[in-house]
Amino acid sequence: MKKRYLLLLFAIFGISASGQKTTDQKVTELLSKMTLEEKIGQLVQYSGFEYATGPQNSNSATVLEEIKKGKVGSMLNVTGVEETTAFQKLALQSRLKIPLLFGQDVIHGYRTTFPVNLGQAASWDLGLIEKSERIAATEASAYGIHWTFAPMVDVARDPRWGRVMEGSGEDTYLGTQIALARIRGFQGKGLGNLDAIMACAKHFAAYGAAVGGRDYNSVDMSLRQLNETYLPPFKAAAEAGVATFMNSFNDINGIPATANQYILRDLLKGKWNYKGFVVSDWGSIGEMVPHGYAKDNKEAAERAILAGSDMDMESRSYMAELPKLVQEGKVNVKFIDDAARRILTKKFEMGLFDDPFRFSNENRQKEQLNNPEHRKFGREFGSKSMVLLKNQNTILPLSRSTKTVALIGPFGKETAANHGFWSIAFKDDDQRIITQFDGIKNQLDKTSTLLYAKGCNVDDQDRSMFAEAIETAKKADVVIMTLGEGHAMSGEAKSRSNIHFSGVQEDLLKEIAKTGKPIVLMINAGRPLVFDWASDHIPAILYSWWLGTEAGNSIADVLFGTVNPGGKLPMSFPRTEGQIPVYYNYYNTGRPAKNNTDRNYVSAYIDLDNDPKFPFGYGLSYTQFKYSDMILSSTSLKGSQTLTITVNVSNTGNHDGEEVVQLYIRDVFGKVVRPVKELKGFQKIFIKKRESKTVNFKITPENLKFYDNDLNYDWESGEFDIMIGTSSQDVQTKRINWVK
Ligand code: BGC
Repeated sequence: MKKRYLLLLFAIFGISASGQKTTDQKVTELLSKMTLEEKIGQLVQYSGFEYATGPQNSNSATVLEEIKKGKVGSMLNVTGVEETTAFQKLALQSRLKIPLLFGQDVIHGYRTTFPVNLGQAASWDLGLIEKSERIAATEASAYGIHWTFAPMVDVARDPRWGRVMEGSGEDTYLGTQIALARIRGFQGKGLGNLDAIMACAKHFAAYGAAVGGRDYNSVDMSLRQLNETYLPPFKAAAEAGVATFMNSFNDINGIPATANQYILRDLLKGKWNYKGFVVSDWGSIGEMVPHGYAKDNKEAAERAILAGSDMDMESRSYMAELPKLVQEGKVNVKFIDDAARRILTKKFEMGLFDDPFRFSNENRQKEQLNNPEHRKFGREFGSKSMVLLKNQNTILPLSRSTKTVALIGPFGKETAANHGFWSIAFKDDDQRIITQFDGIKNQLDKTSTLLYAKGCNVDDQDRSMFAEAIETAKKADVVIMTLGEGHAMSGEAKSRSNIHFSGVQEDLLKEIAKTGKPIVLMINAGRPLVFDWASDHIPAILYSWWLGTEAGNSIADVLFGTVNPGGKLPMSFPRTEGQIPVYYNYYNTGRPAKNNTDRNYVSAYIDLDNDPKFPFGYGLSYTQFKYSDMILSSTSLKGSQTLTITVNVSNTGNHDGEEVVQLYIRDVFGKVVRPVKELKGFQKIFIKKRESKTVNFKITPENLKFYDNDLNYDWESGEFDIMIGTSSQDVQTKRINWVK
């Protein structure tokens, strides 16, 4: 019999060519056995916070009973072998024994924490980023977690928004590359492997563009801007097979993302043909009532399911309302079937029907508790995320034999703060952290002394510790000031209108500066801060974000030069809050700003320089890099030809080091205005001192495409500026002509 007929026969009897049923067939079979309530149950997710003491807790009776009845599909915030096993056992008491999915915010590491995500992005190192997620997935899966609510791929141009710490900054291209690296890391060799967890592209969509940087706020923008700037990381994630999406709290042009037919049905599930499932953000279905988009939970549930939100995280509207809505004919059961199918498919792909307990394993969990390899990696990743903003008189790196070093500031001996905002609190967390004090102390010579003074608290007006700090500084040869904002001052619901150092830290810095001692300023933060005075007066500044479990070691590695910093800013740093939003890829105006001599006609203020304090892509090194003139394979191209750009980069200084070579393009005229430059490629290269490397980039018309106002995505003949450089502001430019 011909193979084709055999396959047809197999298909009719529900078996694949290998004799096994396909996942699709298994899901269909299971769905056919399920009652409407059981199907809706799969769309329900509760948080385990309240049930943390385990299923024995009598307060949690309702949810636990619901699980046993098959009315819950997933739990979040249930962590560890003991808890996940206990909950899974309940699910297996249900009629059809459908296992639960356990989700968790594994955002910047799990047992081993890594730099906050914006800091990771500053490494511009896709290999390191991927590996960090591989480690996070290995650790989390051993604790029984199946699914992380990451990566957050929201492009964000406003540092007042607290959640910039969780993303990759202001740029669409960089953000897309990082999103893909994270998904590769989490999902590893594919769902079903024991160390792979499902990833979740969030928050769909445009959550990062909230008005005024105020969390959860409205987004009102053209569809062109939405498609061009905010959606590409999501589209790439869908194409790369990210297992799930999460919608967002904000409305987009008046329609909450949770019930937004355009982005969920038309784009994600329509045009992009996405087959995974969409989870709501926490309570976002119910929040459409106060939002003013649904008159009650019932209407909210109706709108959310019709738009394509498959799983209800904690709003408790789906189980309460969907059965009625189906009976009343307001929601066709095919929408429930589709959502349940998507969720069940993932449970099959994760192997949970073969063995619901396969991830929860005491031995694997023990191995991941304090894994030395993971910590070693965390140390490296931390140091490579730091950005050197200033190094006047080459104060850095410090000598290990400096006689007396003073560490001053509220973060010097902090423990848990180094984890950053999104860490899952484990009881022994504080002991596992390497503090900044310990990290520095361990690397100073035995004959040297490390003094410490807190100086002030993170966020109050108390100056009573200043005197001691000044005395401490006076005794030192070098002062390391560790300042910034508290680790919980950036993150969800942590928008700030004032993004200076919190409390009296800047006053403390000014007092210490009066001692005349050389100062190295280390800035701990989850966002770009404003520190105009410090950047003008302090000779050496390192941006150290929040670096995770190994923070102190990573910091000391950079301070003493074991690691030469190579990070570059993934967001522009404003001069003052009134300049926000300030980003590198703005549109020109028709008029030059005052004193602006170049071609970039940015609209400006009369009382402020036009450019940011530190531009996107900026970061120094202990060595110097010199770029040769770039060579273009042609300056006049046709059709689908490829342009090759070549540049030679020499390390002319005295340290080996890494450089991020950045390629930008400008489309000089268009049928809609185009940004003054757009990142189109970058390469992170290591160059030994006194050596050089040649870097090549290839550009095709695909890289020149943009959206017009009818949402056609294409390129136009014309002139283009090709720019190569060490930051978005420090580039060399050549103009080319490219015709269709
Ligand atoms: C956040 C999500 C997060 C969820 C679950 C929400 O408030 O916006 O990003 O994944 O909570 O913790």
